[in-house]
Parts: sequence; C-alpha cells; structure tokens
Amino acid sequence: MPYTEDRAAWFEGQGLWQHIPASDWRDWTWQLKNRITTVEQLERLMTLTADEKAGCAHANQKLALAITPYFFNLIDRGDPDCPIRKQVIPRAGELVVSEGEMLDSLDEDGHSPVPGLVHRYPDRVLFLVTDRCAAYCRYCTRSRLVSNAQDYNFHPEYEQGLRYIESHPEVRDVLLSGGDPLLLSDKKLEHLISRLRAIKHVEFIRIGSRIPVFLPQRVTPELCEIFKKYGPIWMSVHVNHPKECTAELKAACERLAFAGVPLGNQSVLLKGVNDDADVMKALVHRLLRMRVRPYYLYQMDLITGGSHFKVDVRKGLEIIQSLRGHTTGYAVPQYVIDAPGGGGKVPMNPDYVEKITDDEVIFRNYEGQRFSYPLKADPREVPTEPIVGARVLA
Ligand SMILES: *Cc1c(COP(=O)(O)O)cnc(C)c1O
Repeated sequence: MPYTEDRAAWFEGQGLWQHIPASDWRDWTWQLKNRITTVEQLERLMTLTADEKAGCAHANQKLALAITPYFFNLIDRGDPDCPIRKQVIPRAGELVVSEGEMLDSLDEDGHSPVPGLVHRYPDRVLFLVTDRCAAYCRYCTRSRLVSNAQDYNFHPEYEQGLRYIESHPEVRDVLLSGGDPLLLSDKKLEHLISRLRAIKHVEFIRIGSRIPVFLPQRVTPELCEIFKKYGPIWMSVHVNHPKECTAELKAACERLAFAGVPLGNQSVLLKGVNDDADVMKALVHRLLRMRVRPYYLYQMDLITGGSHFKVDVRKGLEIIQSLRGHTTGYAVPQYVIDAPGGGGKVPMNPDYVEKITDDEVIFRNYEGQRFSYPLKADPREVPTEPIVGARVLA
C-alpha cells in the first residue's frame, strides 16, 4: 500500500492521555516520568503480538524499553505492522544473531582515544555525552552502551573529552551524540557547549538528537536561547517515517530554526518502516516543510539482533533513484553505509554514468534518457584574424 498521507494534517493531541492537564502533557519532565518502560504497562495500553511479547521478555538484557507517552500516541494500536510501533516495541528478532553482526559494528571503541570520544576522521570527533535517550530505537547502533542494559557502564568523562579536543588543533568539528545530548540539563549542556565554543580551533559544533521526535516538549525557549547564545550550532534530527512529522515536531523544529539552528535529518532505512519509495517521498517532503534538510539515509549498521530490520542495498538505491530528479534536490538525502569495522561513511549512489572515455561521458538522466557530454576540448573553428578584445592563445 503506498503511503498517500503526504498532504494529511499534522497530527496533534494527547490521544490516550486526554485526562492529563495540558500543562503536564507539555512538560518534558512529565513525559519522561510517565514513559512506558515495562511490558505490563504496554499491555495495559495495547494488545501485543506473540512476536512482541517474546521481544519484550528479553529487552532489559539488551536495550531498555522506553517510550514517551507523546510518541506512543503515534502508534496505530490496531495495526501490528505500524511503522512507529516497529521502531520502539521490541520483537523476537532482536534475539537472533545473524552473520556479520557485531556489538560494536563500527569499532567505535577501537577508535576512542579517551572514553566517550570517537576520533575516526582527521578533522572531527564524535563526543558521546550520555548513554540515555528519551525513548529507545530497537535498531540502535549503540545498543551495547545505550540504556546500560548490557552493563557496559558508560560514564561519560566530559573533562577528559574536552581536554583531548583542546589539545588536538586538527579537530575543527565536534559532534555531540550519545545517547541523546538533549537529555542533559540546560545547565550541563550550556557548560559543554560554552567550553567547546571557547576552543579556538573548534569551528563547527553540531548535535545529533532524536529528542525533537520523541520528546518535542524538551525543545524549550530556554534551550533555544542557549543555541542562540553559542551559535551557530547545527543539529541532525532523526525522523524515519512521515507519521512522526506531527504539529509538535514541526513547532519544535521551528523554535530551533528561529534560534538559528540549521537542521538536517538522518534516517535509517528500516524494513517495514520506510523501505518504500512513496513513504520516503512523503517523509522528505514533510521534512522540507518543517525546515529540515534530509542529510543522510543510512543503511542499518550490522548490530547484533538487527536482521529483522535489514533492507537490501539495491532497494535503498532504488529509493534514491525514485527521488533524484523526480522531486526537489534539497529533499534527496545521501545514502550511505557506515563501513563495518570502522571505515567511515561511504556514499551509495545509483549509477547514472554509463561510460567514460577520454572523449566523452555517457550518462542517463532521471527518466532513463541517454546523454553524452564531450570531454575533449578539440578546437573545431580557429579564427584566422585576432579577435578584438580577446586574447588569442598561441
Ligand atoms: C558520522 C560520524 C561523524 C560525522 O560524519 P559527517 O559525514 O561529517 O556527518 C564523525 N565521526 C564519527 C565517528 C561518525 O560516525
């Protein structure tokens, strides 16, 4: 079934939590305190499938179960195939370990000069500042440490990380991630950002966060003031499906954008969630309407227990091909595989080039028409008289 709700209204409301005062509902600390974290709570709200029950039984040894009431409302409880449901409710597939899957598939631990800092690329670092999130994505690339269900005991050492960045002038770009950095208090976040801003060689600061999607209430005017004060701060949000693009998310994105935060989106290509050209097109269109530029589309990392989410790379390429040329260029994300073992992000592109010789490049456009672009600069007509006002080359 193609997803045709591209022009649908932006979902808004308290859904199952009508009885809660709106002031509580809009309070991010209320949302956090009232998260659904146990299978019993889940079963009080919906009927789980056998597959989900089996997944939930082991979630707490793998990656904690947590869903904010706000995000839970986006689940279609009558549909076992609901794309929102699949992202946050554990399924039995999480217990299956398939060929090639790893706990730390990007070898982040092997690229960490100090705990919590991943220095893979020459000029930029990934700074993991917490192991907590507002809700947990069942395909999380950092399941090994996030939520601490596996007793990894990650204790972010800000001072050590900051000192490393201070003493490495080649680091011009710092990416705050985790866990979700926006779960830190305003005070902690301001401390971190102000320290980074004070480092002369740090030109670019960005935050990777799914808080606007799971807990848009956290994007308060006070938080936005911090971004304004220390900006430019860039942000990558993580939206996977058009149903996540609610009035609340849109408003949160607007608060960020008006505070001068340029917004990008990172989606993970997930089976049964967004592995469909129509769904992806509806998503990227909605993102643009929320001032968010689709940045990356990730092939899912080879995390243990992730195979039930895995999509064929040829499908991903087909989705990109269905977007490029067919819609706004700004709407097309770069499809990448983060190389297993830690090679960094590598672009996966549909092949438009048919042939390149010394004479020409032959390629196809988005409609499949063939074109040639000559590469030789052989003069065909040489002027016999010098051209007035132009320099004739010898
Ligand atoms: C993704 C990532 C970055 C940022 O990569 P960009 O392509 O610049 O967005 C930096 N460091 C690590 C370890 C990463 O995984």
